Amino acid sequence: MIVLTHVNAPALSGRIFSTAIGRMRYPRIDCLAPTWDIVQGVKSGRITPEEYTARYRELMTARWPAVKQWLNGLQGDETLLCFCRPGTFCHRQLIAKMIARHRPDLALEIR
Ligand SMILES: [Zn+2]
Repeated sequence: MIVLTHVNAPALSGRIFSTAIGRMRYPRIDCLAPTWDIVQGVKSGRITPEEYTARYRELMTARWPAVKQWLNGLQGDETLLCFCRPGTFCHRQLIAKMIARHRPDLALEIR
């Protein structure tokens, strides 16, 4: 099971990684981190979630060799973290879609 959740969620398990641009005590998967510009943009309302999504997808395309390598290396025991509260717009949802599309063999849960 791959779990995408909040950094302070209880009972984190498996191999735990940050996908956030901000500093976290867990190792970060650099190719998945958004830029400060889009994070601050969506938090301040300067850009919409739809614009964030388009910009994040552009980032994933630009970083595709690294992203593809990461997707291929997934073992199914990863926990992927961000600072956004559960239920709010977050790139966790975009990462989950990417995993579902490219690694349909892996079980996935957003918490
Ligand atoms: Zn987030």
